[in-house]
Amino acid sequence: MADRHDVIVVGAGLGGVVCGALLAKSGLKVLVLDKNNRVGGKQMGISVRGFKGEMWPTYGIPVELGPFVDAFRQLGIESKLNIMLKTQALMYRRPGGEWVTMVNVAGKQEKDPTENMFNSWQLDAKEREVSLGVLAEMALLTPEQLYELDDVSVQQWLAQHENIPRPLRGFFAVHANLMSTGIYELVAMSELARIMVIFGSSTTGYPKGGYARLVEDIVGVLKANGGEVRTNARVERILVDDGSVTGVATKDRVYKAPIVVSNAGVHPTVLKLVGEEHFDKGYVNYVKDIVPSLGFASQRYIFSKPVMEHGVYIGTSEDSFLDSERLEKMAEGKFPEVLSFYGVVPSNFDPDMAPPGKQMLVLGTWCSPDPKAKEIKALQKKVDQQFEEMFPEAVPYIESREGYMGPAQVATLSRDPVLPGLGGEAVGLAVTVGYCGKNKPLAKSPISGLFYVGHDAGGRAFLGTHQAVSSGLMVAPLVQKYFIERKAVHRPQP
Ligand SMILES: Cc1cc2nc3c(=O)[nH]c(=O)nc-3n(C[C@H](O)[C@H](O)[C@H](O)COP(=O)(O)OP(=O)(O)OC[C@H]3O[C@@H](n4cnc5c(N)ncnc54)[C@H](O)[C@@H]3O)c2cc1C
Repeated sequence: MADRHDVIVVGAGLGGVVCGALLAKSGLKVLVLDKNNRVGGKQMGISVRGFKGEMWPTYGIPVELGPFVDAFRQLGIESKLNIMLKTQALMYRRPGGEWVTMVNVAGKQEKDPTENMFNSWQLDAKEREVSLGVLAEMALLTPEQLYELDDVSVQQWLAQHENIPRPLRGFFAVHANLMSTGIYELVAMSELARIMVIFGSSTTGYPKGGYARLVEDIVGVLKANGGEVRTNARVERILVDDGSVTGVATKDRVYKAPIVVSNAGVHPTVLKLVGEEHFDKGYVNYVKDIVPSLGFASQRYIFSKPVMEHGVYIGTSEDSFLDSERLEKMAEGKFPEVLSFYGVVPSNFDPDMAPPGKQMLVLGTWCSPDPKAKEIKALQKKVDQQFEEMFPEAVPYIESREGYMGPAQVATLSRDPVLPGLGGEAVGLAVTVGYCGKNKPLAKSPISGLFYVGHDAGGRAFLGTHQAVSSGLMVAPLVQKYFIERKAVHRPQP
């Protein structure tokens, strides 16, 4: 039995639903199919004993600008975005030293935003001057320079500067992991600079009701415009005939459409859903070479009373970054002395996210994206220990430690592992030299009518969710144009 649609979107992650909703709003008949029992992909919401939030720490939507603002405006639901603000604790530890905490108050511009940071790094006057120069150079990069820096890694860019203080080098390396979710020596300087400038110049927060509420609002627009979403609908094949897409097949049904937009990840789309045999060998090799992002190992703590004061906690040391060598050591169970640490307390942004008088912290650290990685449990145990050292006053109020997740669970909820070591990418494909900015994989595949959407392709810089939403915004007009062109070519002759 076959259903006919103008466009089928495979996957209801943020990229898929934004693209689908925009296409439905433009008048196309859209069907979104997702293998999960709920929409949202990596940002699917959780609801546990009255606590709401995400499965892993998620945060960072700029209030005044960026893809979320643009998407909600274009979908006609701008007033629903509703980003809540709260303080962020940036914690830093020098080797052998104590943890030092700097608190960023959302929306408040410090007179000298570097002062606290340099104090916590314990820099002398000369080191402050060098550090200020490097940070200023980054902040003032022109669009042309950023374009060039798509081809230069963070590590290579730093090597062009002399006498960089160790804490500043560590800061860039750690943020290549934190903000760009990539292996330090591969992340492109352009990506890191763009993200850092966005975070330095805008107020960022967390959506009221969590990321799942944003997804619901977007799906609401899709449905209001005649679009349809089917969950528990795993696409087994994207059907191709003579170089053009003809539809998709689930286990028990074929859905026909001249356009398929895949949110399932570039690797699984090419290597599994369509199949290598439909692509040129060079393209298959290009896809196989694309580097995955890092993974993330997470857990949540339920507290019997509110003990965590801030909305976001980020803990780093100058030596907590991950490069390829350290990832290999982690696989053998050898972890950095201090782990980079990221935690979010949803109810500190939106009190409705927890039962009155209680609190939930979702926290974790970066790791390999390999769903089969053996070190994840040990890593989570180290996160437990590090939390206890950092927040001894909170420990007596931990009611439960639960929700331990890693690359294996991420892969189950989002992309199918199709190559060894891949599948549990936290954000998607990495923003590394050769695959980001001007080199980002194109959203239009070599097969007529097949497009990619989501973090992997077609979007612009910024964090994971931003990339996915920006891809949805940029891919929708491409699809629409293709739809019109195709109609013009296939118009019935008088
Ligand atoms: C631990 C963790 C922490 C994160 N923290 C942040 C953060 O703080 N800030 C931030 O901005 N971003 C963060 N992200 C990243 C962000 O969640 C992702 O980059 C973004 O949500 C990816 O969206 P996407 O559209 O690319 O697709 P995904 O969310 O990957 O969705 C893909 C969808 O496709 C579906 N699918 C796949 N295959 C099939 C198939 N064969 N048939 C049908 N459906 C299929 C999946 O079920 C899924 O719903 C984090 C991610 C993780 C995992």
